[in-house]
Amino acid sequence: MRIGCLTSPGPIRSVLTGCGYFAASALAVALTRFGGGAAFIWVANAVLLASLGTCRPAQWPGLILLCWSAGVVAAGMWGLGWTASPFIAAANVLEPVIAAGLIGRWRIHRTGLDSPRNLSGFLLAAGLIAPSTTGVLGAVIIDQTSGTGVGTNYFHWLVGHALGAVTFTPIFEQIASGEVQRWWGKTQWRNLVEAILLLIFVAITAISVFAQTSLPLLFLPALPLMLITFRVGKIGASMAIVVMTAIGVILTLHGVGPVNMIHSGLGERLQFLQLYLAVTVLTVLPVAADLTRRKKLFDQLRDSEARFRLITENSTDIVLSLDVDGVIRYASPSIRLLVGHDPDKLIGKQSSALVCEPDRDEVRAVHIKALRSPDQTFTVEFRGVVPGGDVRWFETHTRAVTDERGAVQGAVSAVRETSRRRQHEAELTEAALTDPLTGVCNRRAFDRALSELSVSPESESTGCIAIFDLDHFKRVNDMFGHAIGDEVLRAFARTARLQIRDGDLLARIGGEEFGIVFRQVPPDRVYLVCERIRQAVAADVVRAGDWPVHVTVSIGIATLDVGDDPLDVLKRADRALYKSKEEGRNRSSLAG
Ligand code: GH3
Ligand code: MG
Ligand code: MG
Repeated sequence: MRIGCLTSPGPIRSVLTGCGYFAASALAVALTRFGGGAAFIWVANAVLLASLGTCRPAQWPGLILLCWSAGVVAAGMWGLGWTASPFIAAANVLEPVIAAGLIGRWRIHRTGLDSPRNLSGFLLAAGLIAPSTTGVLGAVIIDQTSGTGVGTNYFHWLVGHALGAVTFTPIFEQIASGEVQRWWGKTQWRNLVEAILLLIFVAITAISVFAQTSLPLLFLPALPLMLITFRVGKIGASMAIVVMTAIGVILTLHGVGPVNMIHSGLGERLQFLQLYLAVTVLTVLPVAADLTRRKKLFDQLRDSEARFRLITENSTDIVLSLDVDGVIRYASPSIRLLVGHDPDKLIGKQSSALVCEPDRDEVRAVHIKALRSPDQTFTVEFRGVVPGGDVRWFETHTRAVTDERGAVQGAVSAVRETSRRRQHEAELTEAALTDPLTGVCNRRAFDRALSELSVSPESESTGCIAIFDLDHFKRVNDMFGHAIGDEVLRAFARTARLQIRDGDLLARIGGEEFGIVFRQVPPDRVYLVCERIRQAVAADVVRAGDWPVHVTVSIGIATLDVGDDPLDVLKRADRALYKSKEEGRNRSSLAG
């Protein structure tokens, strides 16, 4: 049977809705109008409400008119008679229209009674506002026709209509929305067999409960109902309720079952049965809807987990998932390839164990910052120890992970090695401060060291500078060529470097001019060092083929105190150098 054809718009839906409405209202008015007043059971409005809730608003007028006509015929033939039937039928169809309007306006998702909002909205609209409003009209019309009293009729209308709508609308909607057909289409036969067996279990239990009148066993169906809800889901729950309703109503009408143990009229007993069924529906359907929602979430989680694995396992970055305390919950396989750690052995360990001691505090601080500002990504560079004891540079981008309520659950770090980049940067920095010919520092490095020294807080007399100018260097070039001149410059750099300490800075500051920044060395000591350099240079010989090349150097020395202008110091050293040249070259002079 293709139940899903009910979802098709147009004539089929209209015919089935109209027939359903007619059958439900005819049975109700013919069988449950005890005492000639309002019917005690009213399922018809649930048929129309389910149909209105699952079709386009454009179809509403046709469906309403059809159900009104069906209601007129049913009430005319078996109910209040033809004079009153147009009015009572109008009061009836008005009820699902009000409920459907409210539900639409409040954006209630009726078949998913899985949230308190959906459930209470549905109960308020279909179970209270709509029947209590139309009940006034209905009770007045019935009283005018039958004289059975407004109050009693209002009460029976309200109870019968509210319970009818609340019990049956969710089930009818599942049928009308095609949910049943979709379930049937996608369920494997093994699961279908299980569903049928469980349904038989429900039926047997319902018969055991409703076919005897000695024990009040109404609690018993809860067991198979919960079982079928958990195993089969929403559709299983709905089918079980339909089976239970059919068995319960038929047997109760036959005068057997625990409901008949109540000492009151058949109408009240049937309303009690309906209350029982309504409570069952409102217990089981939200559970089923929540189970469906959880299954959907689980499927989404599995998909996103698969995507996450695909990305992390093929990434050249290392992905670490950390808890709030920095304990590793996951390490991507790339950590084995890039660093050499076994990812499985890292799980449960403190991530700070991968960081070198001096950088741990900074890395920890960034982790805490990321947890405090979940919408931001934080970056930090640190040194890490790799298996084998090597130290390498890494950079991590860390971001907090939050759950659906925004509570921080931990952090994810994407880690990348930066050793090569740092080395390259260091090489560039060095190149920018190095003289390519001699390998010593260049003018820029010399000026920087000079400025730093002039503001150094270390001591008042901070040091000296010495300037070296090769004597008659032009002649070396002229006589032996530029290449030999270059070799002489390199030889000077080598010789001078041997005479100074690590903390002093030797630089080539011009063509054949060199400078030394002496930190924390008094002038008389600097003078001695410079004299040693001068003598070593004079003793050094560079060979130009068979010819020995001898050079000498003139030197100017100036002291540098904190607060001195580096340019002034340079000028003083220059003047001292000029003095050395004036006095015959190959000598050192101390600025006055
Ligand atoms: P003084 O004793 O007065 O210092 O005489 P000098 O010849 O050394 O002085 P001058 O400034 O006239 O000559 C410097 C020479 O240094 C001129 C230039 O050709 C040479 N020179 C500058 N840079 C280089 C270099 O990179 N390589 C070589 N081979 N020569 C250079
Ligand atoms: Mg010169
Ligand atoms: Mg010179």
